[in-house]
Amino acid sequence: MLFAEEIGMGQASFENYRSLSVETRSEILSKEEALTRFPIFQDANWTGVKENYFNPQSGWGEADEAVASFFTATLASGVEFIEATAEKLVLDSDGNCAGVVISEAGGPSREFLADRTILCVGAYTEKFLADTAPERSELQVNGRLIAAGAIQCKATYPPEYEEQLSKAPVHFLGMWHTHGESIPAFKGLLKFNCEVSFTNMTRHDGLGRDISVPPPADTQTSWNQNVPEGLKQEVANVFKNTDAVSPNQDLIIDYHPKCANLVIASAGSFHSWKFLPNIGEYVVKRIFNTLDEDLVRKWAWDRENTGAACEIFQGLAKDGGC
Ligand SMILES: Cc1cc2nc3c(=O)[nH]c(=O)nc-3n(C[C@H](O)[C@H](O)[C@H](O)COP(=O)(O)OP(=O)(O)OC[C@H]3O[C@@H](n4cnc5c(N)ncnc54)[C@H](O)[C@@H]3O)c2cc1C
Repeated sequence: MLFAEEIGMGQASFENYRSLSVETRSEILSKEEALTRFPIFQDANWTGVKENYFNPQSGWGEADEAVASFFTATLASGVEFIEATAEKLVLDSDGNCAGVVISEAGGPSREFLADRTILCVGAYTEKFLADTAPERSELQVNGRLIAAGAIQCKATYPPEYEEQLSKAPVHFLGMWHTHGESIPAFKGLLKFNCEVSFTNMTRHDGLGRDISVPPPADTQTSWNQNVPEGLKQEVANVFKNTDAVSPNQDLIIDYHPKCANLVIASAGSFHSWKFLPNIGEYVVKRIFNTLDEDLVRKWAWDRENTGAACEIFQGLAKDGGC
């Protein structure tokens, strides 16, 4: 991974490895050194780039394939998979969680009762709790996370560039003019992220106020009128993907303090996909009360939310947009 930037994050990553005594092959490169190794960026916009953090041990993983293989392994271990929409929690007469109301495609709604219910609906967390019991303010998200989206796009390229583009590093630009990442060519596509986040506030009638929810699916692919027609044809698709972001970008893995038997596993910082191989271990430890005390505090539903690693995301969660 090559990280060209002006904001100091590359240097901070470099220092973090050293302060943790983690062996790394990462280096800080000048523009000239970066271009010698990666001439593919010869014609890139280098305006204002102060330094380049390069780590040959960092890379990227294909999310679709990783998630599919995770599902295959889960089913093989005996887990029963039901494809359904969770409509709301089932609450018992004490207001505690007794399961979930689900509806399978074409079927009626039914209660699915359980000793413990783990809610991991990502950006839909705020809406889900509001739909469950809008009259219970102590159940609601109330600023603990926000549904935030960012723009991604996929572009095709002429086949003769395949070899050159697939050997490029993951490129991250921490620059005001092009803040985002590009992923090397794979299966005929290049992928780009833009590091600008948005939220979509929608009125929830039950609560009588606005909450953050992902936009409806039919608005996921959209073009601004100003985008030239030729570019629209080259870029295969544009997505607004959504994640749940907490004010200090830490995860929430905790029992809901006002609703016994309900575990929330959500939130973070736009960076939780990479925890797919090991996040479950921590959720299970929290469920069975074997998680280290400092992690229990760190990932609590109720916490101070200080120490944000990335101020721009903190601004989003506090102010509703950045
Ligand atoms: C633009 C963008 C780029 C990102 N890039 C990276 C990256 O490079 N690396 C990285 O590690 N992370 C990245 N992330 C973050 C990562 O995608 C998320 O942190 C991660 O997916 C969160 O996992 P989750 O299980 O909490 O939520 P999700 O992955 O959102 O899963 C929640 C699931 O719940 C389902 N659901 C919601 N409501 C209901 C309901 N009522 N009934 C049934 N199902 C429901 C949803 O359909 C969804 O499948 C990125 C996120 C975005 C938005």
